[in-house]
Amino acid sequence: MAGCEAALFLAERGIDVELYEMKPGHYSPAHKSPDFCELVCSNSLKASRLSSAAGLMKHEMRMLGSHLLPVADTCAVPAGGALAVDRKLFSGRMTDLVLREPRIKVVREKITDIDESRITVIAAGPLLDSELAETLGKFTDGFLSFYDAAAPIVTRDSVDMDKLHAANRYGRGGEDYLNSFMNKEQYERFIDELVHARRAELHEHDKDQKVYEGCMPIEKLAERGPDAARFGPMKPVGLKDPATGHRPWAAVQLRKENEEGTMFNIVGFQTNLAFPEQKRVFGMLPGLENAEFVRYGVMHRNSFVDSPKVLSRDQSLVGHPNVYVAGQLTGFEGYMESALSGLIAARSIYSRLMGREFEYPPIYTMTGAMLRYIHTENKDFQPMGANMGLLPDIGKRIRDKQERYEAYAERAVKYMEEYIEKEDSHENSH
Ligand SMILES: Cc1cc2nc3c(=O)[nH]c(=O)nc-3n(C[C@H](O)[C@H](O)[C@H](O)COP(=O)(O)OP(=O)(O)OC[C@H]3O[C@@H](n4cnc5c(N)ncnc54)[C@H](O)[C@@H]3O)c2cc1C
Repeated sequence: MAGCEAALFLAERGIDVELYEMKPGHYSPAHKSPDFCELVCSNSLKASRLSSAAGLMKHEMRMLGSHLLPVADTCAVPAGGALAVDRKLFSGRMTDLVLREPRIKVVREKITDIDESRITVIAAGPLLDSELAETLGKFTDGFLSFYDAAAPIVTRDSVDMDKLHAANRYGRGGEDYLNSFMNKEQYERFIDELVHARRAELHEHDKDQKVYEGCMPIEKLAERGPDAARFGPMKPVGLKDPATGHRPWAAVQLRKENEEGTMFNIVGFQTNLAFPEQKRVFGMLPGLENAEFVRYGVMHRNSFVDSPKVLSRDQSLVGHPNVYVAGQLTGFEGYMESALSGLIAARSIYSRLMGREFEYPPIYTMTGAMLRYIHTENKDFQPMGANMGLLPDIGKRIRDKQERYEAYAERAVKYMEEYIEKEDSHENSH
């Protein structure tokens, strides 16, 4: 996704590109076809509606010069409100488009080293093979992860603040956490549902994953005994339930996921439960009954660099200005997000070649908000897909979710139009 978007964008602007692809000589555990832009799992490119996060992102990608989306449109299959494609047709047409482009030279070879003397984009995806991983590890001082152990994230707008309590353990330093308290009966019912809930089906390459003790799936921990979770992430120590004046039986903490506090992470709740089960079971936590999950918990093989630490704002690696990273490897989670990241890397490189400093799209756009996320210090950085919680608050309370999202989308499009206009004026002056 990222590699093709980047190559096509640059080639269209007269830049010669060499595109290295290791297929068909070598395949990752999920790839099967020799074609480019292979959709390894679902064939959905997610919602089309402008007032949805995925729809807004795709709209912005079209404005930014995506080559992939117009091709996707020609391969669309009926999928309700989503853009889904015939995957074979889609990757076949993308491959043709790349092969027909005279400025792109395709080299079917596996890369193991990075040549720093040339501008290079590493867009090798989340199933990075060990040799390139070793090289990239050296370029990032080891700030490269191979597994996701992500806890779910919910929006502040969707949780019931009347049932949550803002406090830190032992009253230390402010009220950084929102706490959901449970009595004995609520806790026991919750644990019972948790251990019996349906798990997500794991891909073959995820089955042998070794989990660290400190980041065990919450349902696995709960299986160890009725009180295991109460001595782990659900421990109530240092907290007081204002309703009873006593320590609660169990507590779950929600921690701010972004500076503005529009999204909250359920601390220690990394999980392998199926997504609908996460909504159902975690919805039993007081205050989370109607929570909107902008990211579900996952635990799977997923390579990504610690972008806040190692990625400069122009998408090159800190200390290695010729080496850019794009796609899922940067923490842009999802097919379209990865493609968008390729577009951004290409735009950044193009600005540089034109002697201009690269400017991000504004943070009010989904693109700018996602870039801000991967460049903001975060001690537990995890990949994230497009979601409305990433956007800065709109400044007024709009109760109806649909209307609120429409307002976010309208603002984002306005900012993106201004950005594109400015970028085009630079381009025309060359
Ligand atoms: C099993 C799995 C299922 C997923 N399912 C979904 C889903 O349903 N929906 C969704 O939105 N996202 C999904 N994702 C996440 C993500 O969107 C995709 O992985 C996406 O394809 C990432 O895009 P990318 O451009 O970063 O990398 P990729 O699309 O993986 O492209 C990387 C390319 O680089 C090539 N390559 C890798 N290493 C080398 C090398 N050393 N030398 C030369 N070439 C190399 C690969 O062969 C591949 O063609 C899934 C991820 C995985 C691992």
